[in-house]
Amino acid sequence: MYLKSIEVQGFKSFAHKIKFDFSNGITAIVGPNGSGKSNVADAVRWVLGEQRIKQLRGGTMQDVIFSGTENRKPLSYASVAITLDNTDHQLAIDYKEVTVTRKLYRSGESEYLINGSTCRLKDINELFYDTGIGKEGYSIIGQGQIDKILSGKPEERRELFDEAAGIVKFKRRKNASLKKLDDERQNLVRVRDILSELE
Ligand code: ATP
Repeated sequence: MYLKSIEVQGFKSFAHKIKFDFSNGITAIVGPNGSGKSNVADAVRWVLGEQRIKQLRGGTMQDVIFSGTENRKPLSYASVAITLDNTDHQLAIDYKEVTVTRKLYRSGESEYLINGSTCRLKDINELFYDTGIGKEGYSIIGQGQIDKILSGKPEERRELFDEAAGIVKFKRRKNASLKKLDDERQNLVRVRDILSELE
């Protein structure tokens, strides 16, 4: 699996529709300070479902929408689509190519799509669990992140190893099942109470 392309429109400094094509190897993005290099990485984080605006270097989520320049009016929405080659079927979906799209309108309305079909953020998160690509993955190492990992708590470091070992989705499923079990236990206590009142 590898990143084939990123298509952005109205996202941060990219007012026009622009497509970055990548081949299966090393690609470097170079440019002067402030030209938008980090915005490309932000676009990938965002489309993968990042909800923490601090991680995207903004104040509110609407800050990712192109806010205009001297010569160009602000835009009303931002859209990012990434296409991944999935010929090795590392992503558990029966397509050789997977395109994930996220759109956000100034009104606050937002949309996620997998291969053109509307989906939930949860579907995107689940698609990328244990691949290292998801928003919690290690595929994007931001400035200062290595320091943060080295000086972080052991539990935080453990999360990275869990992702690499491919056990995150099982842990999440286990936690969801434990919660259900707990809810059911509480329901049972309530039913017993009612029964003893009736007896
Ligand atoms: P450096 O090399 O200094 O890290 P960079 O090439 O990584 O810079 P970015 O940080 O990606 O640059 O881009 C910063 C530019 O993006 C700034 O000029 C900023 O005005 C612009 N920008 C960020 N958000 C928006 C937005 N919503 N609308 C328009 N422009 C934006």
